[in-house]
Amino acid sequence: MKFIVDFHIHSKYSRATSRDMDLENLDKWAKIKGINVLGTGDFTHPLWLKELKTKLEPAEPGLFKLRRVNKIKLNNGWHLTNNSENGAPELRYILTSELSCIYSKKNKTRKVHLMIFAPSFEVVEKFNAHLGWIGNLKADGRPILGIDAKELAKIALNISPEVLVVPAHAWTPHFSVFGSASGFDSIRECFDDYARYISVIETGLSSDPAMNWRLSALDNITLISNSDSHSPHRIGREANIFEGKIQGYKQIIEALRLGARAPQSLANRLVETIEFFPEEGKYHYDGHRNCKVVFDPQETKKHKGKCPVCGRPLTIGVMSRVDQLADRKSGEKPVKIISYKSLIPLEEILGEAMNLGVGTKGVEKEYKELINKFGNEFKILLEVSYQELEHNCGPELAEAIKRVREGKVDIEPGYDGEYGRIKIFDEGEIKRFSKQASLL
Ligand SMILES: [Zn+2]
Ligand SMILES: [Zn+2]
Ligand SMILES: [Zn+2]
Repeated sequence: MKFIVDFHIHSKYSRATSRDMDLENLDKWAKIKGINVLGTGDFTHPLWLKELKTKLEPAEPGLFKLRRVNKIKLNNGWHLTNNSENGAPELRYILTSELSCIYSKKNKTRKVHLMIFAPSFEVVEKFNAHLGWIGNLKADGRPILGIDAKELAKIALNISPEVLVVPAHAWTPHFSVFGSASGFDSIRECFDDYARYISVIETGLSSDPAMNWRLSALDNITLISNSDSHSPHRIGREANIFEGKIQGYKQIIEALRLGARAPQSLANRLVETIEFFPEEGKYHYDGHRNCKVVFDPQETKKHKGKCPVCGRPLTIGVMSRVDQLADRKSGEKPVKIISYKSLIPLEEILGEAMNLGVGTKGVEKEYKELINKFGNEFKILLEVSYQELEHNCGPELAEAIKRVREGKVDIEPGYDGEYGRIKIFDEGEIKRFSKQASLL
């Protein structure tokens, strides 16, 4: 048995998030996506924590589920089945949060985002009480604290050794452990003697496992992937696939800590991650958004890291940064790895196959019909056969999904905060499809 987990999301109490980021909508969208375990996000926020405590009830040890009274009717055309048909129980929640540490170390300003996983509400409360002395937890679901990342790890681990501390989106330029602008060159440099407690990092949307494999320093670090979503329909855009039955917090954490080194006999094992094509992420290449300058690592080197339009230093993206720190060539990898699949969200694939924008009524309608037909998005993207897709939704969509599965897509890389742009079909193909559609 397998189950899919997205550990990193933000509630409606975080800045720039959808008002729909509440438990009822998350529960509904997790079903639509095919997610089995979801991080609560934002457990440091008093109002969100209150909501979590009143609306969730205990499930397996250290995991939670939505109380029945809080389940909303899945009306407006969704016919969602419970995940129980593949043996998985209804959605489980795991207590997670993210904090932004902004501080100075070795004469440089550092900005590092850390995820904290907690085994119980008691641990969360102790942790929050401690942090309340350091910063204002009410200000944001992902609060900013003027504290060294190492100190934060120390506080969390002193409260409970079951806590897991995970550097978030480890490569983004401005807010991460390896970030080009305000990060470090190694986990050791950031966490000193606490580095031995850092066994997991989140690769983030702009990097994929293959890029991380180029650093032998990460060979014993488990690479995970999460959506970091700010709205319900984007949860699961990156995720983690575990093997085994959902048994509790402890088993999931153990699987994360051991990663590719986990013995077959372990209750749960992380077996695969679901990734964006890293080029689609907002910080894959280098550049300046306002100057419309986008460079690959070689071009950046040629220009000595300076923008040819405004003359200021370029925002150095993930690809260049990995290049700087890597000790393996592109394509090389460690002995033990966890494999991954690169996917594109179904709404984007539909937008392309139907030659319509992602947020349009047409795409929305088709999306809903497909979910109602096949059960959930992950099933469609990962499992449903080509023949079945072709039979039910026509050759364009079947072909589009096939190309995504095979990685045969064309992407203009993202840079300096601008998402990359995906093309599955070329112009000629799109014209041919719309001609066929208008004939029908
Ligand atoms: Zn973050
Ligand atoms: Zn986040
Ligand atoms: Zn510029």
